[in-house]
Amino acid sequence: MTGRPATRVVHAGLAPAAQGEPFLGGPVFAAPFHLRGAADASPYNYGRYGNPAWSAYEAALGELEGGEAVLFSSGMAAVTAVLATLRAGDVAVIPGDAYPGVREIAAAQLAPRGIEVRVVATDAAAIEVALPGATLVWAETPSNPGLAVLDVAALADAVHAAGALLAVDNTLATPLCQRPLELGADLSVASASKHLTGHSDLVLGYVATTGERAAVLRTWRGETGAIAGPFEAWLAHRSLATLDVRHERQCASALVLARALAERPDVANVRYPGLPAHPAHELAARCLGGRFGAIVGFELETEARAQAFLAACELVAEATSFGGVHSSAERRARWGTDDVTPGYIRFSTGLEDPADLVADVFAALDASAAG
Ligand code: PLP
Repeated sequence: MTGRPATRVVHAGLAPAAQGEPFLGGPVFAAPFHLRGAADASPYNYGRYGNPAWSAYEAALGELEGGEAVLFSSGMAAVTAVLATLRAGDVAVIPGDAYPGVREIAAAQLAPRGIEVRVVATDAAAIEVALPGATLVWAETPSNPGLAVLDVAALADAVHAAGALLAVDNTLATPLCQRPLELGADLSVASASKHLTGHSDLVLGYVATTGERAAVLRTWRGETGAIAGPFEAWLAHRSLATLDVRHERQCASALVLARALAERPDVANVRYPGLPAHPAHELAARCLGGRFGAIVGFELETEARAQAFLAACELVAEATSFGGVHSSAERRARWGTDDVTPGYIRFSTGLEDPADLVADVFAALDASAAG
């Protein structure tokens, strides 16, 4: 499918029009499929190895990412599948200020298997220092919750010059704004539980890559059983058509909210790549196709104030995760996994009217300041 991203998401992975057929065929529920003769006599033989709903969604994701996509039961299953390709003696460079699950699984699973783990900040200079001898570099850009931004093309050059592979977590940017494989990355990994599915009702993930690597990941998935259910895959595919309109609105609202928050004296360190004050503003403007994401970070002075603020919001759900149609926020330090202040709020803008959203946030800030 050709066209701009907004066009591609609507049509990606759909079968050619056929008389009397639906646009997106329904999910197929099967453990075994009829299979006469040889094990490979049919594209589907057993539900742990393949399913038509995965194939359709993977075709869509592959089109969007510009590679071959392998669907997994969660973003972390996708991360784990990539990390499982490392062997004793290999060296993994892992971000210290990005999604903590990656750091945690690297510490729990890689280090005991004799794989060196170097934890560095999401910063080109810091990664450069860690490159000698590296096998795999993991980068999340924009990062979460820190919202640091990297130039994937420049990073891919540096990583390849060091003889390593580059995996980019594309969850925040989405393939609408950033296509890591085109920029030179070897793997694009994402949680589809966020923007891609967008309704806060699914947990899924994928890896997009090329050639032999996709086959290796597919085999790992079949062997370990880290598979998505067909209904989840089908729902995810159905949600994809609205990705561009959801994302556009969510990013626009995030910019409105960030600008409004930056005006308030009782809110500190508003972090949003769309604000000119953000250290990577220019880079983000160049690399992310004019959208700066739907996550805004900001600091309130204490844990108590942050909790009071969250409790006072009426439109904003207190919840983890991001990218959903309902605005949500959380005091990120409650997890104890990120280097953030006790009052740091990670805010994910949904599809509410931006003026209503800002009014609700401001009312909650006023109420929490008074309380
Ligand atoms: N990558 C990023 C950037 C995330 O934020 C998350 C989850 O929050 C993951 C990966 C893991 O995805 P999942 O929750 O689908 O396992």
